[in-house]
Amino acid sequence: MTKNFKNRNFIFKIIDNYIQKNKKNQIRTRFPPEPNGFLHIGHAKSICLNFNIAKIYHGKCNLRFDDTNPKHEKKKFVKEIKKDIQWMGYKWNKKSLYASQYFEKIYKYAKKLIKKKFAYVDQLSQSEIKKYRGTLKKKGINSPYRNRVIKENLKLFKEMKNGKFKDGEICLRAKINMQSNNIIMRDPVLYRVKNISHYRTKNKWCIYPTYDFSHCLSDFIEKITHSLCSLEFLDNKELYTWILQKLDVKNIPQQYEFSRLNLEYTVLSKRKLKKIVKEKIVTGWDDPRMPTISGLRRRGYTPQSIKNFCQKIGISKKNHLIELKLLEYCVRNDLNKIANRFMAVINPIKIIIINMSENHNEKIIVNNHPFFPKKGKHKIYFSKVIYIDKSDFKEKRTNKYKRLSLNTEVRLRHAYIIKALKIEKNSTGEIKKIFCTYDKNTLNKNPKNRKVNSVIHWISKKNSIPAKFRLFQPIFKIKNPNYEKKYLNYINKNSIQIKNGFIEKDLMNKKKLKFFQFEREGYFIIDKKETLKNKKITFNETISLKEKKYF
Ligand code: ATP
Ligand code: MG
Repeated sequence: MTKNFKNRNFIFKIIDNYIQKNKKNQIRTRFPPEPNGFLHIGHAKSICLNFNIAKIYHGKCNLRFDDTNPKHEKKKFVKEIKKDIQWMGYKWNKKSLYASQYFEKIYKYAKKLIKKKFAYVDQLSQSEIKKYRGTLKKKGINSPYRNRVIKENLKLFKEMKNGKFKDGEICLRAKINMQSNNIIMRDPVLYRVKNISHYRTKNKWCIYPTYDFSHCLSDFIEKITHSLCSLEFLDNKELYTWILQKLDVKNIPQQYEFSRLNLEYTVLSKRKLKKIVKEKIVTGWDDPRMPTISGLRRRGYTPQSIKNFCQKIGISKKNHLIELKLLEYCVRNDLNKIANRFMAVINPIKIIIINMSENHNEKIIVNNHPFFPKKGKHKIYFSKVIYIDKSDFKEKRTNKYKRLSLNTEVRLRHAYIIKALKIEKNSTGEIKKIFCTYDKNTLNKNPKNRKVNSVIHWISKKNSIPAKFRLFQPIFKIKNPNYEKKYLNYINKNSIQIKNGFIEKDLMNKKKLKFFQFEREGYFIIDKKETLKNKKITFNETISLKEKKYF
């Protein structure tokens, strides 16, 4: 069934087998984010996996908010998560779902476990629970409350629900085995008291199920066939199955784990990303330097580039640190096809063409895209005063430096060959103006016997609009800040650079365009928020044209 799909990972093989055995069953997966932050590129990996499986096997993928931890969960995050998934181009099955809509059912399942003597109400303090649990080397010890009778457990559990207790005073635990080699199986907590209002259920509940208890039940309630999660949940798998088996349910979802995405020069954990936002290291979750889906969107990444990246990294059980240049390659490759070409001068320096009159304003028609003529053409103008990039001029020519220097020639892209004759410096020795001549006979052609190798970009003053350019570097200066306890010590303080330059006027007539290639510079996108704030058109650099080594 999936033979033609390029990216067949081990999970596809498992599902192929499952389908052979269970012909009637429709495949159902889910993506279960906690609405406690924005989604990041790691989530994109899980989104692509779950939604692609549903698509390829004509099944369904549910979007379920895993909202059992009210302290940090917000409606705003629900909205942003939905927006990100839709932007990626995926549709979830029917309405979005919430673990919180099953609270009543989950509560009943908890009572059922109590009645079957598989759960008890514990009154050890949180630190005592931790101490009694033991360690990898030391087995756990039973709680003195472990053998409470069913009636007492039911009464206390009801009182928990009715708000009789303070946070941390009491909890419901599964009665499994305090000596288990798997620490998670040492009587895990199923319900805890949290006198906190929930963004959906408000003050209806003051007890909330733990992730382990709610997750398997939510999967079961939604008839999920394949529950895919990242490897850190491997040890929880035994508990997942234990709970559902003890409740005598049929069709227990099959669980499979895959490795989390780790990406160079960033952290992929909502908690850590939240810290970066709170510490004001970036301007928000959607700052273009963030590895969040909204940050990448604002930076100019396309959904396709993210999907291509997820396909390239594949799904496996091995933990890798993925190179940042792979993600950058994917976006560069996609934008190369779709972005129209323009010229922008980011570090401007003025050139005066001395053999041209003031009112010269020559129209030149250029292609928007070198490979796709269907993308049309636009106008540029050549006139007496033009801007080029500072880095394209050096007073003295060297063997390595082949662009413009005094008494040498360079070709202006789409236009003429110019020759630099004189410069004007200010009192600090900084070059302010370059005086050049242009050769009338060189519009898009090289005269015989003269070889001019270098081509530089430019904009004529008359045809320019001032613009701001925001150039980025990674937020961290080390490859794997994920493994550092004090990850904030490794923040790159130069992750943003702001430049004031110029863009072509005609670009403003192409407002419907979204992605731009500024020739010889990189791919750029307009930052709407910054444009409004600066009252000046502001671009984010999505990615440079050539691979960059940052550090
Ligand atoms: P975080 O540590 O960023 O908060 P999380 O796992 O707690 O991550 P959830 O909102 O619970 O975040 O995640 C939803 C789903 O996305 C889970 O199934 C989880 O396994 C998956 N996921 C989260 N981070 C990654 C990652 N880096 N790579 C792959 N999948 C991920
Ligand atoms: Mg989580």
